[in-house]
Amino acid sequence: MVNSNKRNDQRSAKAFAEAREVIPGGVNSPVRAFKSVGLTPLFMERGVGSRVYDIDGNEFIDYIGSWGPLIVGHCHPEVVEAIKKAAELGTSFGAPTELETLMAKLVIERMPSIEMVRMVNSGTEATMSALRLARGYTRRSKILKFEGCYHGHADALLIKAGSGVATLGLPDSPGVPDSVAANTITVPYNDLESIRVAFEKYGEEIAAVIVEPIAGNMGVVLPLPGFLQGLRDITTRYGSLLIFDEVMTGFRVGLGSAQGLYGIKPDLTCLGKVIGGGLPVGAYGGSREIMEHMAPSGPIYQAGTLSGNPLAMAAGYTTLRLLGQPGVYEELERRSARLEAGFLSNAQELGIACTVNRVGSMICPFFTDQQVTDYETAKTANLQQFNQYFAALLDHGVSVAPSQFEGMFVSTAHSDEDIEQTIEVHYKSLQSLSQ
Ligand code: PMP
Repeated sequence: MVNSNKRNDQRSAKAFAEAREVIPGGVNSPVRAFKSVGLTPLFMERGVGSRVYDIDGNEFIDYIGSWGPLIVGHCHPEVVEAIKKAAELGTSFGAPTELETLMAKLVIERMPSIEMVRMVNSGTEATMSALRLARGYTRRSKILKFEGCYHGHADALLIKAGSGVATLGLPDSPGVPDSVAANTITVPYNDLESIRVAFEKYGEEIAAVIVEPIAGNMGVVLPLPGFLQGLRDITTRYGSLLIFDEVMTGFRVGLGSAQGLYGIKPDLTCLGKVIGGGLPVGAYGGSREIMEHMAPSGPIYQAGTLSGNPLAMAAGYTTLRLLGQPGVYEELERRSARLEAGFLSNAQELGIACTVNRVGSMICPFFTDQQVTDYETAKTANLQQFNQYFAALLDHGVSVAPSQFEGMFVSTAHSDEDIEQTIEVHYKSLQSLSQ
């Protein structure tokens, strides 16, 4: 049973105080600090299936899933076994292993736009490397990205970004040189007209358009019909590359990822999260013709001491294999759809403004009555309400990301009972808002 009373967070508070002495803000990634919601972050002890347990002994149904990677839940026995086996053979060699080729083949088999793929260690490395490749390949400097999309923390991409920087109100970070920022053009998501204008002005200089084909870092925002096709058409016309950042959506929204779902073929794809099965992995891939510009086959440089790490490959490969079993995505869809319906009927019954955006197991209830199609409309959400709701969810034993600008992730470990219990907790949490 999840806890239903106010949580005890004494140990987490003590651990946080200690951590703040030696780690900036007490955390190794900003949103973990719960700063925007004004609470003590939970220090975790363990996770199993759909549940996590903090060091105060509180139990939560978890919809963070390590921010996306844990699509088969915490500590899936097959994933843990694969990691153990790999570790017993050696944790790192800095030399090629056969598993890297197997992993590459599996990714290629499932994503037809990818003919060759390079493994890196994070989503940030994937997007950063894909940009370098796009610039080296096209011999152009500018890139175009969308407001509220987050592509990791490389300089060129930390402009009007989503996720933690949106949560903390720091969309343009100090430390990014003006000369770098000047090469990044930003336009609103889903706004093809602004893109046309940008291309009319800078088209011959634009190396690439990078986009989250389903945005997951300003809450979940779906591409409007024709948006992705419009990007495909205009980039082709101007000789720019289209980069799909599928770090979040890759193998999350379907076996063929977002590009399979919408039937659009990007030039380059960035992956991360799910393909690492909970270990640090990223990847970027595309056609053989483009990818062979990377060293050592070509002149564009990118490297990594731990890239293709055997433990990470074992966890990722096992996760991808599990996802390939029949009916996995159908089940995720069924449970996530039930969650969405529950959220909507709760809000309706209690008269609370709510818009739910969802694709498969990525879901986001926004505290607004407006349709959310870009960062501006995402920002119409009532953040004060979100913060109260977030605290109430935790008190009732449900853990979601501490920000309105993040989605929830359903995993194969969430049972029908978990979903029903979550809908009940959601109802109680909304009820506490209207009191
Ligand atoms: N791209 C997208 C779409 C992401 O969601 C993220 C992380 N949330 C990244 C890139 C960066 O990945 P990482 O945190 O592994 O560097």
